Amino acid sequence: MAKILVLPGDGIGTEVTEVSVKILELLAEEKGIEIETENALFGGSSIDEHGVPVTKDVIEKAKNSDAVLLGAVGGTKWENLKHEIKPESGLLELRKQLDTYANLRPAVVYPALVDASTLKKEIVENVDIMVVRELTGGIYFGTPRGIDNLDDGEQKGVNTLHYKTSEIERVAKMAFEIAGKRNKKVTSIDKSNVLESMVLWRDTVTRVWKENYQDIELEHLYVDNAAMQLIRRPRSFDVMLAGNMFGDIISDEAAQLTGSLGMLPSASIGDKGAIYEPVHGSAPDIAGKDIANPIASVLSTAMMLKYSFNLDGISLEIENSIKTVLDKGFRTADIYEEGKTKVGCREMGELIINELKKNN
Ligand code: NAD
Repeated sequence: MAKILVLPGDGIGTEVTEVSVKILELLAEEKGIEIETENALFGGSSIDEHGVPVTKDVIEKAKNSDAVLLGAVGGTKWENLKHEIKPESGLLELRKQLDTYANLRPAVVYPALVDASTLKKEIVENVDIMVVRELTGGIYFGTPRGIDNLDDGEQKGVNTLHYKTSEIERVAKMAFEIAGKRNKKVTSIDKSNVLESMVLWRDTVTRVWKENYQDIELEHLYVDNAAMQLIRRPRSFDVMLAGNMFGDIISDEAAQLTGSLGMLPSASIGDKGAIYEPVHGSAPDIAGKDIANPIASVLSTAMMLKYSFNLDGISLEIENSIKTVLDKGFRTADIYEEGKTKVGCREMGELIINELKKNN
């Protein structure tokens, strides 16, 4: 039995998650997959009810689930609250409590949307990249940190980049495992020509590869070169592995190859749990209008089925249903172009579900 905690959150989070939940219900009813879902408040909606963005009870429920499906949090209503009780801090707390050390962000260019990219069609056609970013270590968490007042009246800003071998090993293993399910190549990104912490990164990734994963091709790139090659030869990448800060930047660059925010799923995986969520936020500008693109959420659900439940076949069926709907010319407003059929969030969901039903 797959136990899934559903946290729709705020704004369009609730709209896109509704579509994903319908898909999970379909899988349970018609494909015999044993799924148990439970809904809870999270983010702004939790602040309104409980005064905090995430309650201890919800954290416990998340820990006792096999996976969490999240919508998005935030909105103008909660913008001026103190940092600790803002909706977004609930997200950070959940990630911390589940120790989700690996962030997975696929960047896939769909044939039907190839013209939405800012790069030429010949460059981005068939791009299918998975960025694996270390999420709980590196310079974003390293100490000492802060802004010091110096005796001479100047100030000094300090951050510290450190990684332990165990932190590098576990995320490297994750990247190799994922590459094994894909096109069997890992590009590890570092700055080992300048930073000692990155010498350890490169040595550790190489050792993990030698010990267990020599069937996977391993390439090392300095981060500056990786940023260039990503827009020069994006098709040559399969899995890109990076530390927290470099991964933050590279995953956004990879996403930009594909076009719309409404198409980008993500997963944050750790030993205590996994969170699947669209990359986009709660989009207050379009919330409540039934015009959001639910595909990022549905693709996050497909990732959950693949990475948390090893249901690779069903995951692929969902991805193919989305491709078919796009090939037939249906578009939500964010990816709409002249000559196509504009549909809303719910209708896009129905179209995907109808394609999925055809595979029965
Ligand atoms: P956003 O991602 O919510 O929206 C950016 C733009 O993209 C908006 O114009 C929006 O209409 C559009 N957009 C986003 N998702 C879309 C979709 N599925 N379909 C169609 N259009 C879509 O980012 P923002 O406006 O900077 O932030 C709004 C709120 O969301 C803020 O409170 C922010 O803190 C929060 N946020 C939350 C998360 C999260 O929950 N993981 C991530 C980013 C931002």
